[in-house]
Amino acid sequence: MASAKTSLSQRLENSEDADEKVRMARQTAIEMMRKAGYDIGTKVKVVVDPQLPFMGYTMPQGGNFTIVVSGGAVGSGLLEGLLVHEMSHVYRIRTNHPSHNSQILEEAIDNLGTKVVLRDYQQKIVHDLLNDIQDLYADDISFKVLGNSPIIPADQMTRFLQDWVKDEPVKSHDGVMDSWINASIMTHNARAIAQMARHRVEDIGSRAEQTNKRFLSQISPRVAGRFQYFRNLLENLREDMTAEEYRALLADYLRQFLKIAEKN
Ligand SMILES: [Zn+2]
Repeated sequence: MASAKTSLSQRLENSEDADEKVRMARQTAIEMMRKAGYDIGTKVKVVVDPQLPFMGYTMPQGGNFTIVVSGGAVGSGLLEGLLVHEMSHVYRIRTNHPSHNSQILEEAIDNLGTKVVLRDYQQKIVHDLLNDIQDLYADDISFKVLGNSPIIPADQMTRFLQDWVKDEPVKSHDGVMDSWINASIMTHNARAIAQMARHRVEDIGSRAEQTNKRFLSQISPRVAGRFQYFRNLLENLREDMTAEEYRALLADYLRQFLKIAEKN
């Protein structure tokens, strides 16, 4: 009995600790954003989902925002950095940047046409492709906000982005699925490498470049030959874009992706 009681009170204490950590991190992140010139107001709630299998996400609801962070993120030492990243999405949504205009994104997917019937994993890949661009635009802000702060040391950011680059293509009995997944690995590699250049994160030891080279050498040259297109597009995304320009950019990005993902 005594030990059960101890563990229950311990758990309560831990969850109070977590609440307090989240409360303070939210305050710190909002303040850092404001000082850097990115006022997001106060209609931002932060909640913890202990079961969430990835770091976090943001849900807009009317003019309010709920940021959901994983249990793991709370104790990771990366909580403030994560909140600044999510709050940068909030800023992009509030200022109506085309990259965060849900109507434009839906149209881009609809415009793929009725000919392309997307299976679940394909929908997820397309969703992640669009998310990659949103993350780059969010991090244009979060890197400025975090720039001079010690929350994420530079070498940790280097390793973080280097670890995103994969060197192993998938190979299964499903050729179409392999083709889609390998095309998506290539574009995610392009995103990590483009992000390093875009946000001036040094690729120490050229590890990201070398890992990607090994990946490209193992996939079809037809697909590997398109790496540079994705890298350039992601590295050179412009801050100021009209809705029309952004629609055109997404249409081209998705069309180029489908070209390499779809065999035939
Ligand atoms: Zn994000």
